[in-house]
Amino acid sequence: MSDLTQLSAAELASKIHGGEVTSTEVTQAHLDRIAAVDGTYNAFLHVANDEALAAAAVVDAALAAGETPASRLAGVPLALKDVFTTTDMPTTAASKVLEGWMSPYDATVTTRLRAAGIPIVGKTNMDEFAMGSSTENSAYGPTRNPWDVTRIPGGSGGGSAAALASYQAPLAIGTDTGGSIRQPAALTATVGVKPTYGTVSRYGLIACASSLDQGGPCGRTVLDTALLHEVIAGHDPRDSTSRDVAVPPVVEAALAGANGDLSGVKIGVVRELHSDSYQPGVLASFDAAVSLLKELGAEIVEVSCPSFEYALSSYYLVMPSEVSSNLARFDAMRYGLRVGDDGSHSADQVMSLTREAGFGPEVKRRIIIGTYALSAGYYDAYYGQALKVRSMIAADFDAAYEKVNVLVSPTSPFTPWKLGEKVDDPLAMYLSDLCTLPTNLAGHPGMSLPSGLSADDGLPVGLQIMAPALADERLYRVGAAYEAARGELAIPSI
Ligand code: GLN
Repeated sequence: MSDLTQLSAAELASKIHGGEVTSTEVTQAHLDRIAAVDGTYNAFLHVANDEALAAAAVVDAALAAGETPASRLAGVPLALKDVFTTTDMPTTAASKVLEGWMSPYDATVTTRLRAAGIPIVGKTNMDEFAMGSSTENSAYGPTRNPWDVTRIPGGSGGGSAAALASYQAPLAIGTDTGGSIRQPAALTATVGVKPTYGTVSRYGLIACASSLDQGGPCGRTVLDTALLHEVIAGHDPRDSTSRDVAVPPVVEAALAGANGDLSGVKIGVVRELHSDSYQPGVLASFDAAVSLLKELGAEIVEVSCPSFEYALSSYYLVMPSEVSSNLARFDAMRYGLRVGDDGSHSADQVMSLTREAGFGPEVKRRIIIGTYALSAGYYDAYYGQALKVRSMIAADFDAAYEKVNVLVSPTSPFTPWKLGEKVDDPLAMYLSDLCTLPTNLAGHPGMSLPSGLSADDGLPVGLQIMAPALADERLYRVGAAYEAARGELAIPSI
């Protein structure tokens, strides 16, 4: 493995900006790594060799001409989840319905990455339309976990997380509707952050559940995710839910946190997210993390959020309801696949045949659940109730944040499971999202970072840190302090 692929994004940026190495060399090293190993992991759905090298050459020319770098990450390559539109690469959301589809416009996140001089090496695999927790719902085959290729990397952003853990990219972008950035981060021993809802533009992010979806940064270190957070966040008039607020000082918080002092910080342990039904090795790793946070000077307080018990039920009504509406646009008339258009079928039949052939089983399941929950006779009983629970969860968070600055929990109740193990048992799959869903329902930010390996199977465990809306910098302060104290966790290479 080339040394360049083992460095953090911050280290690569400083070498590129200092003239020690070119962005072209760094980008080429990652493209070579992808060519050598991605046959094993299937983290990428599309690799953009020429486009990435062209972007790197632009950065190198600007630096050679003595210009200041376009951003703190200029020249450092990145892997983009295949749910953000790109004009120079296909965008499929891992669905057959969008196979080969080229978007006429770039997502705002894509535009910001390009403006920051970040070469995009390719588009990463995911569960179809971001529905799933294992990346097995991709129409293009599952992604494999670099820690153990017989296991899933989490989902829906398993491709982005596996790309990082197998050193195919130093940076990646994910999206988090119910945990799809944080849970794959936990299961691959990488770092993933879901920013406050509305602070990273959803323009050009193919909608899953619009009131929950949020793009966010993924990396191998807390500082790298902070640097990327700074690039992608900010108000966007093209997204009506975008918040016109200043980007929180995430990089400064990560740098300050690295001194490891947490005195004066109050950390709440959520009683409802610490259960005997979790894997023992996960609980042991979490308890050790809490002890370490205490050693760093934090005050640890147990808090209770009783409505979290209903987060799963609320999420799995709100989310499919929004899905059923959002995915109506894939009607064979506007984008992608078109089946049965041979003159012998009506427009309605072409729509049905296309949706039957183009969507996978999990997407169909959610469209059916959501359509049912929104139907006239059941709206109040299901969707209406789910919205009430959503408000109760937000109220629980508000009460907790009157006592503490951040909350912590395990990110996932389990370590990575075997490919195929839960794919025919949707409820077992949904249960893996228990700890991440409340922050999405409340619109709050959350981070997952490695908390070591589980003593029972030697596989990665994630620590989740949660903060109030628009206080994302707290995640980075606490996360960086914890990361510095726990020390590097060497990811195995192949
Ligand atoms: N696993 C969750 C689901 O399937 C979350 C997905 C996501 O965050 N995109 O809905």
